[in-house]
Amino acid sequence: MTFKELGLSSPLLKAIGEQGYETPTPIQEKAIPVILQKKDVLAGAQTGTGKTAGFTLPLLELLSRAKHKTQQHKVKALVLTPTRELASQVEESVRLYGKHLPYKSAVIFGGVKINPQIVALRKGVDIVVATPGRLLDHISQKTINLASVDFLILDEADRMLDMGFVNDIKKVVAILPKERQTLLFSATYSDAIKKLSNQFLKSPTLIEVARANTSSEIVKQAVYHVDKTRKHELLRHLITEGKWQQVLVFTRTKHGANRLSGQLEKDGISSAAIHGNKSQNARTKALADFKKGGVRVLVATDIAARGIDIDQLPHVVNYELPNVSEDYVHRIGRTGRAGNVGEAISLVCVDEDEFLRNIEKLIKKDIPKVWLKGFKPDPSIKAEPINMGGNRGARNKPRGRGRR
Ligand code: AMP
Repeated sequence: MTFKELGLSSPLLKAIGEQGYETPTPIQEKAIPVILQKKDVLAGAQTGTGKTAGFTLPLLELLSRAKHKTQQHKVKALVLTPTRELASQVEESVRLYGKHLPYKSAVIFGGVKINPQIVALRKGVDIVVATPGRLLDHISQKTINLASVDFLILDEADRMLDMGFVNDIKKVVAILPKERQTLLFSATYSDAIKKLSNQFLKSPTLIEVARANTSSEIVKQAVYHVDKTRKHELLRHLITEGKWQQVLVFTRTKHGANRLSGQLEKDGISSAAIHGNKSQNARTKALADFKKGGVRVLVATDIAARGIDIDQLPHVVNYELPNVSEDYVHRIGRTGRAGNVGEAISLVCVDEDEFLRNIEKLIKKDIPKVWLKGFKPDPSIKAEPINMGGNRGARNKPRGRGRR
């Protein structure tokens, strides 16, 4: 299947070619034709599957087919995302794929001055990518007019619900035209997502690429058992001995992210932390430095990391397991993107046993459990000793795959 066969026309094919995409990803192959038929879509797709192009390309195609000559630069499409980072990245994709088309886009999120956004909206835009809270500010100040919206896209809807945006989303949807096409993307299915879909979507076509609630197949996962007090040392060892050049590390708390980032800096490993307490500019800069390779380790909390999209990110480390199991799926989705194999390593101490059990229940999979020679964990833990590079310890016999 080619992008052309999916029904996209030349300005989009040209932009896709410039990105170097050769074939559509599975979600694109399934979603693009259905969206072009103007159907509502409920898509279960993890991040990293190419879902952004999966909705952006047909959206731009439909806009260009309809021409909307009489309503130039009025908001015709609204994309809602849970975080500022994801909003920025989606809008970047809109600009990238739409570069040979005449549409204007704007990104709207909180934590930055509202005036430049008002100026951009006043000039007229066709596509708005927004986080719900700041969008409501614009709605209440009447600095945005959504009366011409034909397309509503809820991206990472599960995450928006987790973050407590459900009422904000309802308020936004309430003022949108009833006649519209609605697309809902979610990495995980829950009853709350089904409810949202029943409320907002009309006889949606269900599209699923990776099975719901399973961790990405192309990510090699491992649990490294280690004592809590030696996690920093183990991480440093993995980075330096493995010569890792770009690694995303997750901590559970903002404080933990700052502390670890500081410790790594002291070790001579360049590092930056991103979390909700950092200003938007600091977050954008840290992400840009990391993408460019100027910073070797990015330490992030779950919310801040949402939406991070770096091609071929090879290593993700869970410094601490998340207490919300779905976050594990989102975290490891940062690696192994668009067909590249990635590695997700979780550093797990005895206290985190229950989190690990819940995660394995969710992903319906046993994660291989090992300990690295030199970092022997609590003797009650059953895991296989390995050497750096992943090969099993030469003298130690494997002692089973874990204690569950
Ligand atoms: P997403 O799941 O939307 O976050 O996309 C993940 C990554 O896949 C992004 O870096 C895209 O640039 C890349 N991508 C999207 N579609 C394709 C494609 N058809 N071929 C290769 N890479 C792609």
